[in-house]
Amino acid sequence: MKTKHNWYERWTLVILFVLLGAGLLVSDAAAQRLNVMTTTEDLASLVREVGGDRVQVESIARGYQDPHYVEAKPSFLLKLQKADLLVLVGLQLEAGWLPPLITQSRNPRIQVGAPGYLDASTVAAILEKPTGPVTRAMGDVHPLGNPHYWLDPGNGRRIAQAIVQKLAVLHRGDTAYFEQRFQDFDRRLQEAEKRWEQQTISLKGTEVITYHNSWPSFTDRFGLRVVGYVEPKPGIPPSPSHTLEVINQIKQDKIKLILVEPYFDLKTPKAIANQTGAEVLVLLPSVGGVPTVTNYFQLFDYNIRLLTEALARAK
Ligand SMILES: [Zn+2]
Repeated sequence: MKTKHNWYERWTLVILFVLLGAGLLVSDAAAQRLNVMTTTEDLASLVREVGGDRVQVESIARGYQDPHYVEAKPSFLLKLQKADLLVLVGLQLEAGWLPPLITQSRNPRIQVGAPGYLDASTVAAILEKPTGPVTRAMGDVHPLGNPHYWLDPGNGRRIAQAIVQKLAVLHRGDTAYFEQRFQDFDRRLQEAEKRWEQQTISLKGTEVITYHNSWPSFTDRFGLRVVGYVEPKPGIPPSPSHTLEVINQIKQDKIKLILVEPYFDLKTPKAIANQTGAEVLVLLPSVGGVPTVTNYFQLFDYNIRLLTEALARAK
C-alpha cells in the first residue's frame, strides 16, 4: 500500500514538472513575439499576413469606425506603451487623435522616426496629391493626398513589404520567416487580383456617387468612375444645396449607385435615392466593417460581390 502511494506521488510530481515546463515554454514564446499596434484593421490584417505567429497585433480603430475620428481611449495608451512597432496610415488620416497618444505613451520605440514607427503612406502610391498650396477650401481631412490608399491591392502589397522590412529589423533572427510569409502572401494576392479583375469586368466605366472621398484607389484600380460626393467636401457634412446638386446630377447622368461607408448616417443618401431611384449600397472601406470580413482578401471579395450584384439588379 505504501509503495503504491509513493508511485502515485512520484508520477504526480513528474506530471507537475512537465506541465510547468510546457507553461514556461509557452510564456517564453509569447514573450518573444513582437508586439505590434496598428491604427486600422486593414494594417493589422497585413501585419498578420507577414508576421504569422511571431507577432501579436491589435488595431486601435475598429473597421466599422470612421478612421478620421476615433476616440482616444486611455486603454490605447497602455497598449501603445508596450508596443514594439506602430503601423499607421499617415497623410493626416489619424491627425485628430493619434499624435497625443504617441507622445503620452512615452514609449521611445514608437515615436516618430524611431525604428518601431512605420507610416505606411511613405511606401504607397498616393492619389490626389496637392500640387499647389494646401488650403482649407480643399476640405478638412485630406490635405496631403487621399489617405484611403489601402483600397488598391497594389498598395496592400507595398505595405506588406514595408512591414516585413520593419519586422526583420526588430527581430533579425526571424527575417527568413517573414520573407517567406511575404512570398506566400504575394502569391495569394496575385491570384486574388486575377480573380477580382475578372469579376469587375462588368463594372468598368460605371459611374457612382460616394458619400466620402474614400474610394479613388479602389475605383481607379477596378475601373469605376466616381462623379460626385454626398459630402460637399471631405469631412464636411451634407448641405441642402449640395444635396440638390447631387440629385440633379444623378437624374441627368442616370447614375445607379450611391456608395456609403458604414459609419455615415443613411438619412441623406436615402433621401437622394428616393428622389432619383438610385440604390444606396453600404460598401466597406476597412476590414472589420462587418463581422464576416476579417482579412484583407475578404474586404475586396465582399465589396466586389456587393457591387456586381447591385449593378446586375440595376440593369
Ligand atoms: Zn477620408
